[in-house]
Amino acid sequence: MRLTKIICTLGPATHTPEMIRALAGKGMNIARLNFSHGSHEDHQKTIDAVKQVNAEDNRSIALLLDTKGAEIRTGDRESPIAITKNQEVVFSSHALPGETRPVIIVNYESFAKDVVHATSILLDNGVMSFEMIARNADGSVVARSHDDGHIGSRRHVNLPGADISLPSMMEKDWSDLEFGIAQGVDYVALSFIRTAEEVEEVAAFIKKHGGTVKTIAKIETAQAVANIDRIIAVSDGIMVARGDLGAELPYQKIPAIQDMIVSKCRAAGKPVIVATQMLESMIENPMPTRAEVTDIAHAVTTRADMTMLSAETAVGKHPAESVEAMSSILLETEQSQGPAEMPAGSHATGEHAALADAAVSMAFSVKSPAILVLTRTGKTPIAVSRLRSNLPIIALTESPGIQRMLQAYHGVTALLIVFDADPEVTITHAFSAAKEQGLLISGEKIVLISDTRAGKGTVHTVHVRKVP
Ligand code: PEP
Repeated sequence: MRLTKIICTLGPATHTPEMIRALAGKGMNIARLNFSHGSHEDHQKTIDAVKQVNAEDNRSIALLLDTKGAEIRTGDRESPIAITKNQEVVFSSHALPGETRPVIIVNYESFAKDVVHATSILLDNGVMSFEMIARNADGSVVARSHDDGHIGSRRHVNLPGADISLPSMMEKDWSDLEFGIAQGVDYVALSFIRTAEEVEEVAAFIKKHGGTVKTIAKIETAQAVANIDRIIAVSDGIMVARGDLGAELPYQKIPAIQDMIVSKCRAAGKPVIVATQMLESMIENPMPTRAEVTDIAHAVTTRADMTMLSAETAVGKHPAESVEAMSSILLETEQSQGPAEMPAGSHATGEHAALADAAVSMAFSVKSPAILVLTRTGKTPIAVSRLRSNLPIIALTESPGIQRMLQAYHGVTALLIVFDADPEVTITHAFSAAKEQGLLISGEKIVLISDTRAGKGTVHTVHVRKVP
């Protein structure tokens, strides 16, 4: 069983039930919908397709809605504009009739105000960069290109060093979130989050609308890195969004920041995603570069919960092969390592943590090949996952929502069973379900966390059973 989970971004290459089925077959755990693109109608079709595959194939692919956020983009163009190195261009939020230099329209009124603090203007996460020369009275900005290149429609713009005055959740994001709540998506990834208060505001909105969506803060700005402890504390999970982060900060700082965030998330028991350009070359090629293989393996050795595919599966030429490659690299690397040390600052207390500690210690003593956990809320398997024992955790739940939520956690495979008033009957259902999926074999000794009868009631216990 693979322990590190895979998120696939769905897009034009993969939004049909057939392609979703193909990605799931290769190992997709979570489907990501990027709300920087597409209408609610488009996303509705993709959500319906994921739900259809879940229902027809007895799968539990979770849905992750990724917000657009306070993203600056260039305008729509009929055809890409060619720019040469050292050429002067004008960035403007409105058309400039009579301007002879190329005009690059941006969707942001305060561009000229905020750009002053930026060290450069970056397009497509740094594929092209520009240096500001002057600001005009009409709010446009003259800049010189450092590169040759072409600028097509809606290219992403970063202003490294600038404190963007936009709120990180824009009007569109609130309406997208409301749509996601109504659709029952499992996670929402919050783009360009800068402070813990912004995450708390989203959590309050979800609660007010009666949703159960979990928040994932995307760490992609210098401010979010500075506020990381408080953001981790209030979020349900974290994404190391290396695309924007590597444009907002010097890219050579990313490896240390990634490791710091993964370690802090593990200490806090919050699931963490390593994202972006993990198999970038496979957008075109059928095989990864060796550097990409090593990058994915690094996410495994630091014990991140999830790795993510973006354009590779959304628009790439080899989406299923990308998932297959990622899955095989994850699995092979996991098999080469043992249990992890807990990172500094980990101090979980309480009943779930105690049960988890006891189960892992017992599993090593009796050489249990996995840990079986019966769960109503998901809290116990999450506590076991946090310990990164490198043993698979088989969680049994009655709730499809909890089953999908657990897709984000390292090592946890969740199965649906019916819970009985008699814990012994529930345990029988658990063993049957795990054996049916080929996860357990009769005769194996297995550590189990479950309720057992105690007098007239039940108590949580950790015990060893022989698989019937
Ligand atoms: C990123 O910037 O790394 C990221 C995941 O965000 P997006 O793909 O939405 O730009």
